[in-house]
Amino acid sequence: MAPKVNYPQRMCVACRERFEQKFLLRLQCKEQKLSAFSGLGRSFYLCLSCVEDEKRVTRALARACKSGDMKYLSTQLKEIITDVRQS
Ligand SMILES: [Zn+2]
Repeated sequence: MAPKVNYPQRMCVACRERFEQKFLLRLQCKEQKLSAFSGLGRSFYLCLSCVEDEKRVTRALARACKSGDMKYLSTQLKEIITDVRQS
């Protein structure tokens, strides 16, 4: 039998499927402010296909951040994605 390689899998909070970390965006929410994960505190993951699905992703963010401010969340997410892609 071929050896099985196990990659750590993380769950996307929007679709609840598991992916390798490289297919996920790691975020955090502190005092209802959404940001890219800074290395400290609690974080959560979104898969790249959910990130493209604005309705689904905003609902998941509202849950993760315990915030009902959908407009802020989706604007903030777009900024984070732009930053991530530039770096
Ligand atoms: Zn997902």
